Amino acid sequence: MMEPPTPANESQRLDSLKKLNLLDTPIEERFERITRMLKRSLGVEIASFVLLDSDRQFFKSIQGLNSTETPRKDSFCAHLIASDDDSLYVGDAKKDPRFADNPLVTGAPGISFYAGCPVRSPDGQRIGALCAIDGKARDITEEELQMLKDFASMVETELRTETMKDAQQRLISELDQANRIALIDSMTRIWNRAGITELMKRECSEAARRRTAMGVVMCDIDHFKKVNDTHGHPVGDEVIREVAHRLLSALRTEDAIGRVGGEEFLIVLPNCAPESLFATVERIRAKLVAEPVATAAGELPITMSFGALSVVPEKAAEIDPLVKKADDALYKAKHGGRNRTEVAA
Ligand code: GH3
Ligand code: MG
Ligand code: MG
Repeated sequence: MMEPPTPANESQRLDSLKKLNLLDTPIEERFERITRMLKRSLGVEIASFVLLDSDRQFFKSIQGLNSTETPRKDSFCAHLIASDDDSLYVGDAKKDPRFADNPLVTGAPGISFYAGCPVRSPDGQRIGALCAIDGKARDITEEELQMLKDFASMVETELRTETMKDAQQRLISELDQANRIALIDSMTRIWNRAGITELMKRECSEAARRRTAMGVVMCDIDHFKKVNDTHGHPVGDEVIREVAHRLLSALRTEDAIGRVGGEEFLIVLPNCAPESLFATVERIRAKLVAEPVATAAGELPITMSFGALSVVPEKAAEIDPLVKKADDALYKAKHGGRNRTEVAA
């Protein structure tokens, strides 16, 4: 196997990457959307937005593989980034001397086909790549390569949009690697209980300062025990992951979501007028239940119950009573027949 060369401007490249504040951060819909489109457009098993860190490749967004990072020395994208090329295409990695004995080829996920385009930071450094991967060897057409390049440009556009615009970006920028990881749920890669709690505190003081209403939503998958009992825990995990992704995709960028229990999620909606809360949550629920979840055990229909609260927080708002009120509303939704939204009085 050929280990990837180190780019000449490596330390500047890493500086640019770190400044973007994307490493060890939760998944974001603005990138999830692009990798989903790439996966579908090329009809591949895996699509990812990869960030090349000093000793690893971090998957800021990945579809089709449950992984957060892998060692840099095995990274296909690292070869691309170290070159001056505007794409790298490997039709059959098993027959390519650079990659044939790569552990990602010989073992899981069993890469045969790889196509990637570099992703540049706003200051022009090749900080990562957008790539498409498949277990079957295949060609790439001119048209497919153009799509990959267009999607990579879309990622670059996202990197140029103003960061630090919301509480989540500010929180991320204040934390080092260990403290970031401590606030992220490793299974779903959204915020965990500690993360969403910290964000809710910040949103509360912001809403109190601006005297605006915020929405607090608790939700829980219906009859989830049955999924575990019938199909096993790993399939249950798949469902939880997909539910987290669907909830995220139904939210605005400034909304925050965290996994606060096994199959329970807390959503914070800054700037949510009381009169639009019910319709907003119902729209999220509709998106969630629209299609069954594809799992190793086949397609499983799901429903979910929601409890919501609209509040203009007091200055030093205690968040526990607010969560409790949303939770009580959720309890009502469960008892009212599930698969519905209750708004707290
Ligand atoms: P309800 O409609 O009342 O919510 O019914 P339910 O069956 O969903 O009941 P409940 O919320 O009490 O049960 C949640 C179950 O989720 C219990 C637990 O076995 C399971 N669970 C908790 N964490 C995980 C996890 O990380 N993975 C999986 N697969 N299951 C989990
Ligand atoms: Mg449940
Ligand atoms: Mg539960």
